[in-house]
Amino acid sequence: MTITINGKPCACERGEFLLQVARRNGFEIPTLCHHEAIAGQGCCRLCIAEVVERGKGRIVVSCVFPVERECEVYTDSDKVRRERGMVLRLLEKRAPESPEIQALSQKYAAPAIDRFVKVDGGKCVLCGLCVKACGELSVGAISTVSRGVTKEIATPYHEPSSVCVGCGSCAHVCPTGAIEIQETEDSRTIWGRTFRLVRCAQCGQVLGTAEELAHAAQKSGQDPEALCPACRQRQMADVFSQTYGG
Ligand code: SF4
Repeated sequence: MTITINGKPCACERGEFLLQVARRNGFEIPTLCHHEAIAGQGCCRLCIAEVVERGKGRIVVSCVFPVERECEVYTDSDKVRRERGMVLRLLEKRAPESPEIQALSQKYAAPAIDRFVKVDGGKCVLCGLCVKACGELSVGAISTVSRGVTKEIATPYHEPSSVCVGCGSCAHVCPTGAIEIQETEDSRTIWGRTFRLVRCAQCGQVLGTAEELAHAAQKSGQDPEALCPACRQRQMADVFSQTYGG
């Protein structure tokens, strides 16, 4: 089927998310909580677009809006700009220290709005990507705690988590750099716990924390990795040529 985005006909599959169709066709739509590896979230609402059907326009959240029939879409209409500006100002109040949000507010010319009250002093916008990333690893070391304005992402009782493996996935997916992660030559500190880093036995590249490698080994039923993928491949090639010549 075909929909039009900003006047351009765009082919898509029925049920495909609008954000995906728009980006594939070269339209820029800002997002914070969307991550390719983690299914649609619809939390930050930055990716709104206007969908017009039978002459009636409505604002939709494009990362979770499945395209079901032909329609006209506008990613930068007055309505979209107005609402996106409002969303950005709200996100700024939630996470005033986030340079990413400040940059987006500037880029999309968010209007000045005085009536919103600041509710946090940090960088977290509570999109939940970190919680999902940790859950996908079957670890579940962090979750959303408290309610309303005191809602936050934390380990249980704010104590260093005994189940965290220090993989850093939560920090890597965070769109606003809200999760602190520190690394030295041989250690990584995250969520109040310090982990020992393991390096490739041949080239010295960091493979991960000891706990992370043990967790992956337990899931795969194999021994913890001692080599990085490149050295492993080289080793296999050596074994192959010793066995079969060449
Ligand atoms: S570092 Fe800990 S909390 Fe973060 S994703 Fe990995 S296991 Fe979960």
